[in-house]
Amino acid sequence: MLAMTYRGPQRVRIEDKPMPEIQHPQDAIVRVTRACICGSDLHLYNGNVPDTRVGETFGHEFIGVVEDLGSEVTNLKVGDQVIVPFNIACGKCTFCKQELYGNCHESNPQATAVGGIFGYSHIAGGYNGGQAEYVRVPYANVGPVVIPDWMHPDDAVMLTDVVPTGYQAAEMGGIQKGDTVAIFGAGPIGIMAAKCAWLFGAGRVIVFDQEDYRLEFAQRYAQCETYNFRSLKDPVLFMKKTTDSLGADVCIDAVGAEAAGDVLQTITGRKTLMQAGSATALQWAINSAKKGGIVSVVGVYGPTGNLVPIGNAVNKGLTIRGNQASVKRLLPRLIEHVKNGVIDPKAMITHRIPLEEVADAYRIFSDKLDGCIKTVLIPPS
Ligand code: NAD
Ligand code: ZN
Repeated sequence: MLAMTYRGPQRVRIEDKPMPEIQHPQDAIVRVTRACICGSDLHLYNGNVPDTRVGETFGHEFIGVVEDLGSEVTNLKVGDQVIVPFNIACGKCTFCKQELYGNCHESNPQATAVGGIFGYSHIAGGYNGGQAEYVRVPYANVGPVVIPDWMHPDDAVMLTDVVPTGYQAAEMGGIQKGDTVAIFGAGPIGIMAAKCAWLFGAGRVIVFDQEDYRLEFAQRYAQCETYNFRSLKDPVLFMKKTTDSLGADVCIDAVGAEAAGDVLQTITGRKTLMQAGSATALQWAINSAKKGGIVSVVGVYGPTGNLVPIGNAVNKGLTIRGNQASVKRLLPRLIEHVKNGVIDPKAMITHRIPLEEVADAYRIFSDKLDGCIKTVLIPPS
C-alpha cells in the first residue's frame, strides 16, 4: 500500500509499505478515504519531536471504511464509514474512565503524560498513522464512530481533531458571559477556538497571527477581531490598552513550540527546539491575561518549558489548563453542532491533494503557500 513516509527533517515521500494486519482481537483495519495534515504534524516534519524515526508514517486525522475486524470488535461492521479520533484509548484505564481519552495509560504505558496517538512518533506509542491507504486502528470498540448518513466526509475528517481541539481550547478557558478572549494563532485550531469561544458566551474574541490571509479567514469564519502581531509589535501591550489595563479574561495558546521559532530567536538570540520548551505564544498568553484569569493551552510543547513566565502566572493568580483534546468525549455534542449548522468545519479546507503528492502537500501547509488553511490528502480509490 502507499503511505506517507518520514525520511528526516522536512523530507517526506510516498513509499510502498506492507499492508497493516490485525494484531489484536480488538483491532480494525481501515481503508483511509481522507487524511488531513495538522499543525501537530509540522512538529514532527521539522524534526522537533524526540524519537521520530525515519520510516514512520504520520497522520492522526483520518476517516475511512472498515475493511477487517478482530474477533472481539462488536461495535463496528465491515463496510462502516468511520470517524477515527486521533487519541488511541483503551476505554478502561483510570484516565479513560474519567473521559481523559487523550491521556489513556494502556495505549502508551511508557509515557507519563500523553496517551497513544496515531502517527505521532514513539513518544505517543509508536503507532503508524493514517496518511496512507490503510491503517490499523487499535481498541476499535472505543474510538471510531460511524459517520452519520447526512454528514459530508470533509466535515467528518475535521471532527477527528480540529473541531474537538478548538472546542476544548474554548471549554478549558472557562469562558463566562461577556468575557474577552485573546487567542494566539490563526491556524485551523486557533480559528476553530475563536468560532467556539462565542458558543461559551464570549463578549469579545481577538485573534493574533502573523499571516494576514489567515487573519482575514479567521475574521470571516469566526467573526472575531484580528491583529497581525508583527504590525502591533507587542500584543501584550495592545491587550492591556484595549482592556482598560486589565488584560483578557481568557487567553488561548493555539501555537505551540517551534512554530514561533523566528520570533523567539529575536527575543533570546538562540535557536528554538521543542525539547527546550520555546514558548513565545505562551508567554504572550500569560502576560496578556487578567489577574485571576485563565490560560488555556492546546499548542503542543515538549516536556519542559523553561521560558514560561511562571512568576507572572503565579503572582497574577492565573489558572493554566491544557491537554490533548478528548475527542471521544466531545464527538456527540460536536456532531450535533455540525448537524445544526452551528459549526461548518469543511469551510476550513482549502486544499485537497492526492496522497501520492504528499511532499508538496506538506510544503504548502508548512510554508503557508497558496492561501492554505487546511490540507486534506486523498488516497487513490
Ligand atoms: P498551524 O501551524 O497551522 O498554525 C499555527 C499558527 O500560529 C500559524 O498560522 C502561525 O503563523 C501562528 N503563529 C506562530 N507564532 C505565533 C505567535 N507567537 N503568536 C500568534 N500566532 C503565531 O497549526 P494548527 O493546526 O492550527 O495547530 C496549532 C497548535 O495546536 C499546534 O501546536 C498543534 O500541534 C496543536 N494541536 C494541539 C492539539 C491538542 O489536542 N492539544 C490538537 C491539534 C493541534
Ligand atoms: Zn491534528
